[in-house]
Amino acid sequence: MGLLSLGTPLPWDQARELAQEVRKHGIEQFLHIWNNMKDRKRDRLLWGDEIEYMLISLDHQRRRARLSQRGHELLSLLQVEETESLERASRTGEKIELEALWRPEFGRYMIEGTPGHPYNSTVNDLVNVEANMKRRREIVAQLMDENEIILSVGSYPALGSGDFFDPPHKANGPFSRSLFLPDEVINPHPRFRTLAGNIRERRGSKVAINMPIFHDLNTPRPFVDPAIPYTRDLFPEDKEAREGAALPDHIYMDAMGFGMGCCCLQITLQAPNVDQARRLYDQLATVGAVMMSLSASSPVFRGYLADVDCRWNVIAAAVDDRTLEERGQVKLAKDRFVIPKSRYGTIDTFLGSSDGHFKPEYNDLELVYDRDIYQHLASNGIDDLMAKHVSHLFIRDPLVIFEELLKQDNSVSADHFENIQSTNWQNVRFKPPPPNSPIGWRVEFRPLEVQVTDFENAAFSVFTVLLARAILAFGDLNLYIPVTKMDTNMERAHSRDAVLREKFFFRRKIYADDSSSSIEMSANEIINGSPGFVGLIAIVEMYLDTVVLSECVRRKLDTYIAFIRGRADGSIMTAAAWIRSFVRSHPAYAFDSVVSSEINYDLVVALDDIANGRRQAPELVGEGNAC
Ligand code: ADP
Ligand code: MG
Ligand code: MG
Ligand code: MG
Ligand code: MG
Repeated sequence: MGLLSLGTPLPWDQARELAQEVRKHGIEQFLHIWNNMKDRKRDRLLWGDEIEYMLISLDHQRRRARLSQRGHELLSLLQVEETESLERASRTGEKIELEALWRPEFGRYMIEGTPGHPYNSTVNDLVNVEANMKRRREIVAQLMDENEIILSVGSYPALGSGDFFDPPHKANGPFSRSLFLPDEVINPHPRFRTLAGNIRERRGSKVAINMPIFHDLNTPRPFVDPAIPYTRDLFPEDKEAREGAALPDHIYMDAMGFGMGCCCLQITLQAPNVDQARRLYDQLATVGAVMMSLSASSPVFRGYLADVDCRWNVIAAAVDDRTLEERGQVKLAKDRFVIPKSRYGTIDTFLGSSDGHFKPEYNDLELVYDRDIYQHLASNGIDDLMAKHVSHLFIRDPLVIFEELLKQDNSVSADHFENIQSTNWQNVRFKPPPPNSPIGWRVEFRPLEVQVTDFENAAFSVFTVLLARAILAFGDLNLYIPVTKMDTNMERAHSRDAVLREKFFFRRKIYADDSSSSIEMSANEIINGSPGFVGLIAIVEMYLDTVVLSECVRRKLDTYIAFIRGRADGSIMTAAAWIRSFVRSHPAYAFDSVVSSEINYDLVVALDDIANGRRQAPELVGEGNAC
């Protein structure tokens, strides 16, 4: 997402009326892009990462750590340089050279940072990634007050629990109507609160997120959360918790902010052409779950240890705007479709490409798609799989419509298309080129949890890029599994210590086109290989052997690969495991799943010390990989 446009977002009752209009123009915009851009060739393999951070204020005297409202203020300062150089460039035509770009995120305490420009296609460029990530931290640090830190971790342990926000606000905002989260945690740009409000209104209730509690020695069975204000009577939605939305033995959360307030690491890769982008999309989708399990960094929600290590399902539920009819809980009458999944989730359909590996049986989910849109796309020359993909995205309503942006020239704008595209949050995203831009067909890899240190974030980014390069270089590589197996994998990847304890469906023969079925393997087998299976690291290394590299670059890349190997074989802990163990060995922990504000403070300080090299944590980042 670029700089946000200003405007007046329509409330749900008005936006709903315009949904069809936005979809209609969105499809015309897609057709324009397709027709203009489908023959683009030989685009460079540019790529870039996105890292999300949380701004936290520390009160050392009271030993309190709180998410800080000042994230948004810092973001405005961080964006000054970009705004000024854009303005200058438009006058003088000079080239813009920035070290980093800064983007808003859902949480007012959040900041997203990307490199100032995408990375080059050469493998030698990969050694600059970590330095740029470090530089981003420094740039933010220059603007922080003495008592402030930024942290990159999946879920903030205390979000929605006790005195977690600075300055404190009551949870009584009309947009979220949450029992726990004040609307002040939401980024003040009108887009974000409208998203939260419109999701709630469209759904007809608050979202209901329930993550299983981690039952520790002293956790009551059943666990009924004493922190839920069951009797509050401020909004009609308040009754939902007591009427069953809050499940026993679960951590109940009731607002979009619990999901979109988590942080992640995303990687966007440009492909040489649309066909290769389709290949990349399909092949990367299948490795998402196992990579997520390696990156797990979200074991605590709303002040409780959870029996999951990842945030993915939390966000899926946090933006689940489906109505009762769409969820199949009452008979379809007013709505258009029964929809099996939230608009946040794993992909439902592969795109296929000229590599010939795709087989119809891999799309084994009965796809819900808009038949009229499909027909329209098909009659305009879009092939079956691409038409299915787009008409599937377009079963959703646009959630935020800006009045001022309704009228657009479909041959130069992609705003309506992007409106629906960018609120289909999937494990991979197929990003068409923006109209009239030098940017090509891209794929975004989205399942990774953000890491505590720049070393780890660089390792995951670089490994993903190398795997993508190998996929493009070795056309015979075939990682297809049925899409429904991908759903199962993603479910499994959440569970506590999934990286060590779970099995994932993976293709048994990855160099063969016979309908070789998928089998279940551990993360270690998939990443490091086993007697019958070559393993993803070996594939990456085969690719590296085809590239001319300086010894120094190769050594750096090898440390990243060794780190990924260690995560998969269990010799290096995930952040989720590290955090869980930190909590459970804290002297104030009562083995009752409760992560008190005191424990939260010590944890946040420890993670900040690790991120800044003041505390060595070889168990988390690997031996010798100082930060
Ligand atoms: P979004 O939030 O929509 O996913 P962002 O604009 O925040 O997208 O950035 C995505 C990433 O894409 C950034 O790291 C950026 O450097 C990178 N990027 C920009 N242009 C290209 C390109 N042409 N090819 C590949 N990556 C690119
Ligand atoms: Mg972004
Ligand atoms: Mg985003
Ligand atoms: Mg983001
Ligand atoms: Mg992104």
